[in-house]
Amino acid sequence: MSLKSQLFLFSLILLLGGCAADGQFDTGKALNISAGALQASLLDKQSVKMAASLTAKELDGKNVIAAASTPYAVRLTKLTGNLHNYDGLNLNFKVYMSPEINAFAMADGTVRVYSGLMDLMPDDQLLAVLFHEIGHVKQNHSYDQMKKALLTNVAFDAAGSVGGTIGSLTSSQLGLLANAAINARFSQADELESDRYAFRALKQTNRDPYAMKRSIETLQTLSGSGGGFLSSHPTNQTRIDAIVKEIGRM
Ligand SMILES: [Zn+2]
Repeated sequence: MSLKSQLFLFSLILLLGGCAADGQFDTGKALNISAGALQASLLDKQSVKMAASLTAKELDGKNVIAAASTPYAVRLTKLTGNLHNYDGLNLNFKVYMSPEINAFAMADGTVRVYSGLMDLMPDDQLLAVLFHEIGHVKQNHSYDQMKKALLTNVAFDAAGSVGGTIGSLTSSQLGLLANAAINARFSQADELESDRYAFRALKQTNRDPYAMKRSIETLQTLSGSGGGFLSSHPTNQTRIDAIVKEIGRM
């Protein structure tokens, strides 16, 4: 079910819930509560992106970021120097110094890669992973994910403005949103769509599109050793098969 239809159902349930015990419809109560649901549905793109930026800032403050002169930052800049406005997006890239094998992106165009992942992959595979993450931004997967995390973790009441609520998110709320972004579980369709985005982007930038396949094979050698980024849904083999089939048709 789409989020929109969920919200509609939610409002409907609240409206029905607004009926007074004696069978009289309690309009005041119904309007009040559905206004809250309405507020949530007003979570527009700008508000969600603002939440993503605040979450990124919180995360950047809690991680060790590779300084510009370090080999990790130099390597990332070399790979992404011409991607800051790729495909109409406003992207920013940083390396987190951590042995974790992970990378993630957020709705505002934040892309972060952990040094552990950089150690594992040659440039072409690393770029494939970055394009895969950019695909999640471009195709609004990161947006939908942040919106869902906001609705799950933050109370939007009828009294306050959406922007005001997001502007005053606490550190612990931002922590919950950060956790949702770092450990994002996308649907099978979203993952395959981002793989497709990545190998097309590789081809468009005159690189070998099969680097996307190789990056999954590299992760596959480690699977079983961790969750999150490493636990692929769909399976690695499903992703590889789809990539090979679709590149063949390009
Ligand atoms: Zn993904």
